[in-house]
Amino acid sequence: MIIKRFTLSFPPESSTKPLTYLLIKNYDIKVNILKAEITAGKKGNLLIEAEGEEDDLNRGLEFLKNENIDVLPLDRQISVDQDSCVHCGACTAVCFSGALTLDRETWRLNVTPANCVVCGLCINACPLKIINIGFGHGVQNE
Ligand code: SF4
Ligand code: SF4
Repeated sequence: MIIKRFTLSFPPESSTKPLTYLLIKNYDIKVNILKAEITAGKKGNLLIEAEGEEDDLNRGLEFLKNENIDVLPLDRQISVDQDSCVHCGACTAVCFSGALTLDRETWRLNVTPANCVVCGLCINACPLKIINIGFGHGVQNE
């Protein structure tokens, strides 16, 4: 079993489909929805954690793509301009997932994108505004 996180960006016509139910039923994938931005008649975004056998996950993702859903691995969703970072730790105070932490020996910022749940709290917490997050539509790079 492996666990991966993805953002799903889907068109309005897919917003009424029971996608997570179908992933569970047809592909034996356990789906945990971490965040949802869904408005009737508009493009929607889901942040999910998916657990299953690798083959099942791949087949499930293929199913989503065939439904015109953009699937992006979560680790491409957060970035910090580390050259500009002053390691003040302000972002770590609001990051409850452990994606942003201060190394207790060097007091430098550690970034673990795979832990990020895209809550967005760190963006305003950073006084230098050097944290970027793309949710559903592309990726902000350093
Ligand atoms: S978006 Fe939330 S979980 Fe992700 S790094 Fe920022 S504070 Fe942490
Ligand atoms: S709040 Fe900004 S400057 Fe401070 S440690 Fe986090 S990313 Fe670096």
